[in-house]
Amino acid sequence: MARRILITGASIAGNAAAWWLGRHDFDVTVVERAPAFRDGGQNVDIRSVGRDALRRMGLERAALARGTGEEGTAWVDSQGRPAALFPAGDAGSEGPTAEMEILRGDLARLLYDGARDRTVFRFGQTVARIEQTPEAATVTFADGRTERFDAVIVAEGVGSATREKIFPGENAPRPMDLTVAYLTVPRVPSDDRLWRWYNAPGGRSVQLRPDPHGTTRAMLALHGPLPGAQDWDPGRQKAFLRERFSDAGWETPRILAALDETDDVYFDVLRQVRMPRWSNGRVVLTGDAAWCVTPLAGIGATLAVTGATVLAGELLRNGDVADALAAYERAMRPMVEQAAGVPKFAPRLMHPKSRLGIRLLHGGLRLASQPRLRGAFARFFTQRGPEPDLSRYGGLAPA
Ligand SMILES: Cc1cc2nc3c(=O)[nH]c(=O)nc-3n(C[C@H](O)[C@H](O)[C@H](O)COP(=O)(O)OP(=O)(O)OC[C@H]3O[C@@H](n4cnc5c(N)ncnc54)[C@H](O)[C@@H]3O)c2cc1C
Repeated sequence: MARRILITGASIAGNAAAWWLGRHDFDVTVVERAPAFRDGGQNVDIRSVGRDALRRMGLERAALARGTGEEGTAWVDSQGRPAALFPAGDAGSEGPTAEMEILRGDLARLLYDGARDRTVFRFGQTVARIEQTPEAATVTFADGRTERFDAVIVAEGVGSATREKIFPGENAPRPMDLTVAYLTVPRVPSDDRLWRWYNAPGGRSVQLRPDPHGTTRAMLALHGPLPGAQDWDPGRQKAFLRERFSDAGWETPRILAALDETDDVYFDVLRQVRMPRWSNGRVVLTGDAAWCVTPLAGIGATLAVTGATVLAGELLRNGDVADALAAYERAMRPMVEQAAGVPKFAPRLMHPKSRLGIRLLHGGLRLASQPRLRGAFARFFTQRGPEPDLSRYGGLAPA
């Protein structure tokens, strides 16, 4: 039975895997590149089987209680007047705003708090090298320490360095031609409980969303290719945003002012991870490191929680690591493939170049927001495929 497990990455996927495995007599170590637990990040939502995973962990209510309180999504014009409104919880919670909307950091913290007593966490640490034999994976860490593990779970997100070491050249990334910067801005009295989405000409959008911490979450999105910009230094990223958004209008000036004041900006050039396989020997990928579908699919955090649960369930069910990792991939592939099918025209459609295009988008959204058409529109936001059946993992109980 695989007993010693290394997990790399302490965000949603890594903490969810640690949460389960630590409760089932596995000896779990988590290494995280950041010097301390990362609380940052903006809204993620958990839907369908992801809710089931949290329910099985006994965390569903706690996650709902930490929700952002978002009441729906409104597309607005430059005066803030709504052009189309989609209330939350409508269309079976499948619209842009789900019933369970939570900040990434709040969800990761919930999982981390439940995992930390049964797991060794090492912050400021990364994997330098992994050597594998049929019996074990020998890991050399960046500080020179060497240890043996029965399995290594790589949960390092979209840009995973360990993935590139163990699966060199295997990722065929799919650029989605959308760059998004996420940051927190001071709340002002006119901020409401809606996700407000404003389109500016030039393929830009400016978005504001409520949070439960007395602040407001902002997004600046720009359509078009921008390869490698995720690796620019933060100063260059900020200068780029300032230059491209200075004339965008609506609430943009206060967001750009906040940009100058904060270091907590998550800048992402959306690209999917496309891996032909998720394991190599005793090393297995999960979460965004395995399949990042990008926020455009609306299901990344759901997949991260679900994938970690399935992986833990299979490691528990199978004495042999190879069997467990193969079963995990069989269970998760169909759902991931469907999610990865999010069309590339989606970001272009939602980010028109011209004022006329924006007027047409608003007209279409107004139509789609009619109660009878909302269901079809909602499906555009969430790519749902065949989901793994978590009841197979009867052994996974929230002990
Ligand atoms: C700080 C932060 C903010 C985010 N903000 C948003 C957001 O606003 N909106 C959104 O839709 N998604 C956001 N995401 C991404 C979102 O969390 C994921 O798309 C999804 O939840 C899947 O989670 P994951 O655990 O697989 O990957 P991620 O959440 O990306 O987590 C990967 C973790 O691995 C760590 N890591 C990276 N490389 C290494 C390494 N070599 N060794 C050890 N650890 C490593 C990272 O520091 C991070 O903690 C954010 C992620 C992070 C880390």
